[in-house]
Amino acid sequence: NKQVILKGYVTGFPKESDMYVKTSPIKLKLSDDESSNNAVLVKNLYLSCDPYMRGRMANRPVDDPDFSPFTLDSPIVGHGVSEIVDSRHPGFKKGDLVWGRKMGWEEYSLIKEPEKLFRIHNTDVPLSYYTGILGMPGMTAYFGFYQVCSPKKGERVYISAASGAVGQLVGQFAKLMGCYVVGSAGSKEKVELLKSKFGFDDAFDYKEEHDLVAALKRYFPEGIDIYFENVGGKMLDAVLLNMRFHGRIAACGMISQYNLQQPEGVQNLTTVVFKRIRLEGFIIFDYFDQYPKFLDFVLPYIREGKIVYVEDITEGLEHGPSALVGLFSGRNVGKQVVKVTNEC
Ligand code: NDP
Repeated sequence: NKQVILKGYVTGFPKESDMYVKTSPIKLKLSDDESSNNAVLVKNLYLSCDPYMRGRMANRPVDDPDFSPFTLDSPIVGHGVSEIVDSRHPGFKKGDLVWGRKMGWEEYSLIKEPEKLFRIHNTDVPLSYYTGILGMPGMTAYFGFYQVCSPKKGERVYISAASGAVGQLVGQFAKLMGCYVVGSAGSKEKVELLKSKFGFDDAFDYKEEHDLVAALKRYFPEGIDIYFENVGGKMLDAVLLNMRFHGRIAACGMISQYNLQQPEGVQNLTTVVFKRIRLEGFIIFDYFDQYPKFLDFVLPYIREGKIVYVEDITEGLEHGPSALVGLFSGRNVGKQVVKVTNEC
């Protein structure tokens, strides 16, 4: 059983060498003793690289067990798509496809609480989509935009990290709603993708802008109604000065801060008061019980080609560490996925 193991807790930017790959023996049958009661054994097919995993690589105390530090010398854990290879749970049988949020970064995992897995019934779409558009990032874009942002037709929407797993979908949802949508991303190639593939009205490379406040003013001369925040730091500060009265900011993530020992201060927060802005954080795990509603909404759009999704698939579990750390330098173009083996 090939596994990706965290060597030690990480400070600063994560590196590929913070993890190593080891192979340990595995039985491909569950044992008959009590320890396997209700458990399932899964073969992992696709593993998801998600920015929040960086937090779990640090030894920081947290209030929320979903974000607790990874166990050292054990496989790291994240979202994944898997096939059941053995089951001692009445609800699952060999061959069933599932996705879940507690898959080990290994070829095979023992899942002790399979009731928390989501079954995959729709296989006319790529299975890897269940790590992205049909999984956690898809729900993040959907609930983050439609619920947290309270959007209205014609509003002006800005999205940072816009070409990524979440951002590319927020932009497409906002276009479906009839909003004016601008995104930023970290390369020419990504900017082109935003405009030509995802249908954003406009896009820019934030790395090319020395004055973010002025750049945003150029794209939003009348101000921003909705900011879908993925980045934080200087970007948030610049956006605050460009917000309209009664604007909304969905604080989805702040990836520019995750590797800093000392997070940057935000200077322009008083704008929130005077412009009557609603700034709201959210964590998608709180919405997981609404998964069926989300699936019913998004599947028809995918099938009709009205929503598209770009993935960046790295092949081979041994390349997982480099794919994961690549999120923090923007190496991924679209949703970063690891295909565990070449067999599927
Ligand atoms: P992405 O697929 O967008 O990958 C991360 C991207 O972030 C990189 O490709 C890079 O794109 C950008 N980035 C990396 N470092 C920086 C930096 N220092 N400054 C600016 N941009 C940077 O990731 P996701 O779509 O999965 O996640 C986007 C955000 O949403 C993250 O902040 C994440 O934590 C958050 N999130 C929150 C959830 C919630 O429940 N609240 C759930 C899921 C995600 P570029 O080339 O454009 O710089």
